[in-house]
Amino acid sequence: MSISEETLQQIIKSVVTQVESELGHKHSAPATGSQSATPVAPVKMKAVTNKPVFKEHTYRSSGEGIYTTVDEAVSRSAAAQKKYVKHFTMNDRVTVLNAIKQTVLSSKDTLSKMAVEETGIGCYEDKIQKHELVCKKTPGIEDLKTEAMSGDDGLTIIEEAPFGVIGAVTPVTNPTTTIINNSLSMLAAGNTVVFNVHPSSKKVCSYLIRELHQSIVQAGGPADLITMVADPTLDTLNELAAHPDIRLLVGTGGPGLVKSLLQSGKKAIGAGAGNPPVIVDETADLVNAAKSIILGASFDHNLLCIAEKEVFVLEEAANELIYQMLDQGAYMLNNEELSRVMSLVLTEDSSSPVAGGCTGKPSKKYHVKKEWIGQSAAAIARAAGINKENIKLLICETDPDHPFVVLEQMMPVLPIVKTQSFEEAVEWAVAAEKGNRHTAVIHSTNVDRMTAFARAIETTIFVKNASSLAGVGFGGEGHTTMTIAGPTGEGVTSARSFTRKRRCVLAEGGFRIIG
Ligand code: NAD
Repeated sequence: MSISEETLQQIIKSVVTQVESELGHKHSAPATGSQSATPVAPVKMKAVTNKPVFKEHTYRSSGEGIYTTVDEAVSRSAAAQKKYVKHFTMNDRVTVLNAIKQTVLSSKDTLSKMAVEETGIGCYEDKIQKHELVCKKTPGIEDLKTEAMSGDDGLTIIEEAPFGVIGAVTPVTNPTTTIINNSLSMLAAGNTVVFNVHPSSKKVCSYLIRELHQSIVQAGGPADLITMVADPTLDTLNELAAHPDIRLLVGTGGPGLVKSLLQSGKKAIGAGAGNPPVIVDETADLVNAAKSIILGASFDHNLLCIAEKEVFVLEEAANELIYQMLDQGAYMLNNEELSRVMSLVLTEDSSSPVAGGCTGKPSKKYHVKKEWIGQSAAAIARAAGINKENIKLLICETDPDHPFVVLEQMMPVLPIVKTQSFEEAVEWAVAAEKGNRHTAVIHSTNVDRMTAFARAIETTIFVKNASSLAGVGFGGEGHTTMTIAGPTGEGVTSARSFTRKRRCVLAEGGFRIIG
């Protein structure tokens, strides 16, 4: 809309007149400029409040969210958090969250490509789907619930308030999607966040945080809602955890990380390792079981912590399940090929045998070779001298103490263990899960068995007759998360996981007036 010079002059004059009259001055201002002033209706002024209009708000940041020192990242984040809760409404938070989602959806290809290139793990096409999932299914402010209690003694509400500045640590397996999912939840709850990302993903994470920074500022939001330490190390992580302005720590990764955050002396949310077992019995729809297991175990080359990692199948169902899996893109390793794959992807510990397998018998100790984590089934097969290109998943028949059962190997090699009874399947599945209480899956139509397995394994996510992905809202109902906090109990995290409960009490409920 363009305003003519004449109209502008009239507006200025009218405002000056009104201000002067409000200040008690008699109007005497001459017409400004060369135009003679024509009287216009006085402009009604709005009361000036401290609350800025969202769209006009801009803050400067030299680092676009990326800072060389922990202290700078945290102090900028703390300043941004104060502004965010003081000057921005709940609707403004929605605008910020939408800006983040739009940016991610328009750069999901680049982010996925960069993540695969930099980390060297995972599958580009699946990473695109992960970016879509976190944008579509991460809840926003609607996740925050206020409880109210009213009665003779008045009204009490319990509201979910922000912690302040959160220090968050992210895994190499879901580098960008954890930042996006955590940021959406944490910002919805009124927090700001400083990330210490996995060092092997710092390039793509810096790119993402810069993009998010620009989109938030362009939408009128404050700078530095999402920041990161430019060169993340274990030292910067310790500094972040010890920083007095960090009010909550959130760690998504392996057991070392969770343990270290829980020792910080601060409130910490720990999302740790999983080794999800699957039970398949003879009552299951075996076509669907095969399809679901292949989908979950091959998605992003098995990098997800919820992904199917070992199968316990009842003897009566085993041949048909394997047949269906082969029919749908899996490849069965024979014993000789299995040995070759084992020597390719595992290192054997030369120290003495250790206990800890499903049967509790002593076994050799193995470690997963990092270079094979998150590689495709075809690449692993090729390197092991198996000439198979169009395969989604390598499967093998093993005993319950096999290292592929015991280790969280994070690659598309899935051991299948035959069991003589359902009870034996449960016992071995519980042992393989190792008390992580993370994720488990069952394919069965026997409700009693579903209940028995769920009670025995006590996982945070328990999926029946679907792929493990359904547990994070991919083909299943419910919201998604990239931070499944089993050890600390928040479960499938969302905005409300990053809040403090505050009680606000109004006493007497107005009885004094009623009399
Ligand atoms: P990782 O534990 O090696 O690294 C995760 C993060 O923690 C990184 O930023 C890393 O720098 C840091 N870190 C690693 N060891 C640490 C220590 N001893 N002290 C402090 N910080 C440490 O894990 P990863 O390889 O990046 O990710 C894979 C692991 O994360 C798997 O075990 C997987 O199951 C788990 N994971 C869990 C969830 C969940 O929601 N529960 C989600 C994704 C991944």
